[in-house]
Amino acid sequence: MIKTQREKLCVITMDVEPDWTGYARGCPQYEGVKALRKFVSLLESIQGTCTFFVCASAAQHLLAALDDKASSYEIASHGLNHTPLTRIPPNEVGLEIKASGRIIEETFKVKPVGFRCPMGMSSRFVIKTLATLQYVYDSTFLPSIYHLSRFRNIGNDPHRFPTLPFKIRFQESSLSIIEIPISVSTRFRIPAGSYWMQLIGTRLSALLYESLFWPTPLVMYTHSWTITDIPRCEGVPILVDKVGYPNRGEKEFKLLSQFLKHLKRTGFKFVKARELAEQWNVPLNVVEADEIW
Ligand SMILES: [Zn+2]
Repeated sequence: MIKTQREKLCVITMDVEPDWTGYARGCPQYEGVKALRKFVSLLESIQGTCTFFVCASAAQHLLAALDDKASSYEIASHGLNHTPLTRIPPNEVGLEIKASGRIIEETFKVKPVGFRCPMGMSSRFVIKTLATLQYVYDSTFLPSIYHLSRFRNIGNDPHRFPTLPFKIRFQESSLSIIEIPISVSTRFRIPAGSYWMQLIGTRLSALLYESLFWPTPLVMYTHSWTITDIPRCEGVPILVDKVGYPNRGEKEFKLLSQFLKHLKRTGFKFVKARELAEQWNVPLNVVEADEIW
């Protein structure tokens, strides 16, 4: 049983998906999964665990990389092939979530109970569909200015958005689902993700990530394809390639490992998102879906 809010808990999450978030058409699409073995070694060195949000299209790659260690980790769903669920017809959303869940279950022999929406794009309809399909939790929201304009009733005020896990209730149907937001620092709301570390570079990352106060549970995220040096690919927009990921690859992996080791040194305990959703012994705030969308 995970006990109290005061305990320093960290959920490490990794999205395992096509390289360049799916822009790598015409190139090998899963070179990034080669980073998984060194990532797992890093986790072992800090006695950590991880929740992998895997696209069904990458499930076999993840299985191969984890060897016989898959049961030490949580395998959750990141959709079929990283197509945003907000961009497909509504009558296909449920089918796509079910199909990805089925492939992941067949591959890992465990039914996923958690979901992260591809490209961080969710909607009231998508989240309600997850609740209908009995997903225990979603972990998509990122309560910083960067993401908030997506939520109609929250606008651009990040401070109106919960930063700790909460329950979303859909009044009309008595459905509910737990939302586990990606963490932001309590000051400046800097997201706890290796994407942000590589974006701001080594010095600023070290300064910010070592000194800022982190909430607990701390939910952080990374991607398999951004922490290893994969070949450049034609067709990747310059905004994604040069501007969005100036320090990706080995540099990003170094920042990530420094940060995780720092967490270990400062007393964080590593748990899976599922454990947080099912065992965290703290009453969750309830937010009506209508307050969000
Ligand atoms: Zn993703």
